Parts: sequence; C-alpha cells; structure tokens
Amino acid sequence: MSRLEIRHWAGFAQRPFLAPERVRAYQDARIRRLIHRAFHNVAFYRRRFEEAGIRPEEIRGGADLQRLPILTKADLRMCRDGEMLARGVDEKSCIAEISSGTTGEPVRFVRTRGEEYALFAHRLRAQVLSGLRPWDVRMKIGSRPVRTLPHRLGLFRCDAVSDGQPHTRILAELEGKRFDVLSAMPGILDILLPLLSESKLRSRRLRRVFCGAELLSPATRRRLKETLGCPVVDFYGATEVNLIAWECVRCGLYHTCDDAVFAEVVTEDGRLAGAGEQGRLVLTALHSFAMPLIRYEIGDVVRRPAKSAACRIGFGTIDEIVGRLADHLPLPDGQWLGPCRLIEVAQSIDGVRRFRILQPTPVSVVIEVQREKEFGEEQAGRLRAGFEKLLPAEVRVEIREVDDIPLTARGKLRIVEAWRGGEDGVTSGVRIS
Ligand SMILES: [Zn+2]
Repeated sequence: MSRLEIRHWAGFAQRPFLAPERVRAYQDARIRRLIHRAFHNVAFYRRRFEEAGIRPEEIRGGADLQRLPILTKADLRMCRDGEMLARGVDEKSCIAEISSGTTGEPVRFVRTRGEEYALFAHRLRAQVLSGLRPWDVRMKIGSRPVRTLPHRLGLFRCDAVSDGQPHTRILAELEGKRFDVLSAMPGILDILLPLLSESKLRSRRLRRVFCGAELLSPATRRRLKETLGCPVVDFYGATEVNLIAWECVRCGLYHTCDDAVFAEVVTEDGRLAGAGEQGRLVLTALHSFAMPLIRYEIGDVVRRPAKSAACRIGFGTIDEIVGRLADHLPLPDGQWLGPCRLIEVAQSIDGVRRFRILQPTPVSVVIEVQREKEFGEEQAGRLRAGFEKLLPAEVRVEIREVDDIPLTARGKLRIVEAWRGGEDGVTSGVRIS
C-alpha cells in the first residue's frame, strides 16, 4: 500500500469534517497521482494528453484539470479494446459494470476488487453520516447486496427483498422481516406507497429510508416521510463511480463525496458554475486506476447552491440534481427544455397518482397519467394548460389515462422519454435551460 493510500484510510472517518482547503489539498495530491499513472499506464490518456500538448506534471491539482478535454460516453465507446485499461491489469480478476446506456449503447467500466471495496466504504461512511448505526439492519428492495467483511462480522447487516415479484408480495415479505432502514429506488417506493399506508410497517418505527439510483421527486419524498414517519435520505450515485453525493441531514444540501470524486459543474459556455448556477456534472474518479475516469461527463445536470451552507461537513455542495441531459426535450426552434418544470406542473395537479412524459415527435408531447379518483376534467385542463405555457405553440399536448406506468427492465421509473430521432450521441449540443 502506498503512502497516499495509508494516509487516505488513516484520515478516512474524519475527512468529511476537514476544512474545505484541506479537502482540496487532499484532492490535489490524489489528482497528481492519478494523472501520472494514467499518462504512463493507459494508452488512451497518453494519446489524449499528447494531442492536447499537455505534460502530466503540468496538472498540479483540481484547478488545472480544466485544461484537459471532457471525456464523454461517446469517447469511451470509440475506444479500441483494452485502450482504456491500465497496463498490467488483469481484467479477469476485475469487476466489470455496465452503465445503463439510456442515451446510446451501454459502456463497460472496469475496477479492481480493491477499488470496488474503497468505493463501497465511501458509500457506507455517507450512510453512517446520515444516521445509520453499525448494529442497524438495512433492507434493500432489489438485488441482494454483496457480502463484505463488516457484514461477516455482524456489522452493518443488510438483507434484500426481490423487486421482481408482485407488489403485494414485496410488502408481505417486508412485513415478515426485521430491519431498521429501508433502502430502495424511488420508483418502486412510489408504487408501494398506497400499500405502505395500510401496512404494519407504519407502526414499526423505521429509522431511515435511503433512496438512490434515480431522481427522488419532492412529492414522493413528502409522501414517504408522512407514511413511514422517518427521515428520507437521498444518495446520488452512478454505476461508473458509485457514490457521487449524498443529502446532508444537517444542512439539507447534497455534499459531493470529495475524497472519492473531484466534481466540476460546467456551464454551457464552459465556465465552472458559480453560486445558484447549473451545469453539466463532470467527474474525476479519485480511486479508479485500473480504468481511470478523468473529467468524465456523467450525463446529469446539477445546480450549485445560491448560498454556501454552514455545515460541519467541509465537502462541496450541490443544491439540486436537476435531471439527466438525456431527459431534455428538443423543441422545434432548436432550443432544449429541461424536464424539471414540466415535472413540477404534473406533480402539482391533484389526482395525478403517477405520470410519464413522452415526446414521440418534436411537435407532440403525451402525458400518461395514472389517475386517482379526484382527477377529472378540471385537473386535466390545468395539467394541459401548465404544459402549454412551457412549450412553444406548435407543440401539441395530449393527456392519456393509463392503468399502469411500467418500470424499466432495471426496475427504474423513467419519467421522461424525450424525442431523439434515433441518433446516437444525443446529448451533444444540449442547451441547458
Ligand atoms: Zn451539510
């Protein structure tokens, strides 16, 4: 283990509480090492640096990273076999993850087992900072978690209920198990909500609900909190890097996991976003050496907070995860509309149990509504008017009542399906509105 790694783990528990300038110094040291290793061991980066006319020693920390080009999913797809892998890495002994690839072909990411455990530790630390106690049992709705050393020692125990079964069965299984923390994707929780309000789980006094892997809407969050009577904490992560940020129970903002990723929020004109501004999230993975990700555009739009938080945690902050670039709607005049305001309109209408926004062509938007009793003509009229106000006049808005809004094969709820015309590399040129 190198000196930097020893220093990393020795200061691991306390690092979130360091002053921001000490966190930056830590990040700079890791970035220097990452750049050095990527240049000398990874064919793709050596070529990239040489093309940009940059020597690795010129990158002294996070502030210099902006001199390097942004890495996109399209860049990764165009790589030749093995070009992104560090020399000497035995791929067979690594863990490969496939990103869901909703914007095009899926991309394969490779990590060593050591790197995988490091990322797992960062996620677990964020859960502890969010109220998880070592003796709590987490119940996950979804695939069974991998057993790690703490689990085997009886700490941070974790169990799972499969999401691939009828909803009443999921609930019955949950009622039959003992646990303190419920962990699931917001889409499945949203579907279970009507059942949860009648269930025995309400009297169980759960300590926390942990959400992640897809956008948690304010409406779902509020209903979960009311129904289960405990705090709901959102963890923002991605297949490529595991945890990116988590919602702070102290200040209410999301803290970026600054000793695992170096996060830049880049505006449309290529600047770093200032207070209250939004932009594309660009990440440098500080623990990925087998397949380095340097200035990788993850495909989400986030906003920096208007005011900095007074918080014990010194890591950087994000005010809101605004949405995925893939969810932006292209408009007939060549502009793009972010999905958030449309989602807000749909959530504000009484009687809309669940919904989905489809854009089959650039000039038509279909709102699929799974309704509750109170959804009538008046509510439908308000929903249509709200959408028409945000969209140009030539876009036709249709409301379609449906019995069910299906989840994707990976159990996710895709609220927006924007028109893409079958092109690849769809997010290039997206205007962030
Ligand atoms: Zn905080």
